[in-house]
Amino acid sequence: MKIDVVSIFPEIIRCLSEFSIVKRARDKGLVDINALDLREFTDDRHRTVDDAPYGGGAGMVMKPEPFFLAVDHLLQQGPADEIIVLSPAGKSFDQKAAEKLACCQRLIFLCGHYEGIDQRVADHLATMELSIGDYVLTGGELAAMVVVDSVTRLLPGAVGNQQSLAQESFCQGLLEYPQYTRPPVFRGHEVPQVLLSGNHQEIANWRRRMAEERTKRRRPDLVEDEL
Ligand code: SAM
Repeated sequence: MKIDVVSIFPEIIRCLSEFSIVKRARDKGLVDINALDLREFTDDRHRTVDDAPYGGGAGMVMKPEPFFLAVDHLLQQGPADEIIVLSPAGKSFDQKAAEKLACCQRLIFLCGHYEGIDQRVADHLATMELSIGDYVLTGGELAAMVVVDSVTRLLPGAVGNQQSLAQESFCQGLLEYPQYTRPPVFRGHEVPQVLLSGNHQEIANWRRRMAEERTKRRRPDLVEDEL
């Protein structure tokens, strides 16, 4: 998969691509992450990417031209499956969306700052607007990397044990069961006995029950359709 991220802070993208599974997936050639500096697509001395909002109001709005030029440049290298604007007003990103994006060959992410990006970028350049949650970040870089991380770990070969993906939270419409490791007793707190029993069927039943109870209690919205 090829991923391009257009940003005024490409270093954030490069830095966050240097760790853990994303880094390993890059090293294995499963994903190529390219950070592009939006300011390279400006034509004035100050490399201006923002301007005052039409209609007045606080803050600055990111101009459309640099984004259109940056995407024109990227599309010269080949087509993209999705061109994604990160925005709190976008569709909520979730595991199902991550699974769909993980089937793509190429994704382009456009990161906003200030009061956001001129709406014409979302309306006439991007193929989707994504939000990573109901809160406002300073810029789109962290949001882009949240999406990139969750998509990258779904690429075949990215995670050491593929089976661990199948049981993760949200994969079967449930939160994951509680996990424990050694020691069996820590400060008086014991690991549930069933996990030490060696009985695989009982452990599987317990885990399923825990996942269902936990999901019902913490995220009833998830279980409505699934249980
Ligand atoms: N004025 C905008 C609003 O009220 O919706 C917020 C702009 S925010 C300060 C600047 C940029 O951060 C956005 O253009 C977007 O790229 C990114 N951003 C902030 N929160 C986000 C979220 N929850 N999901 C995705 N991107 C977000």
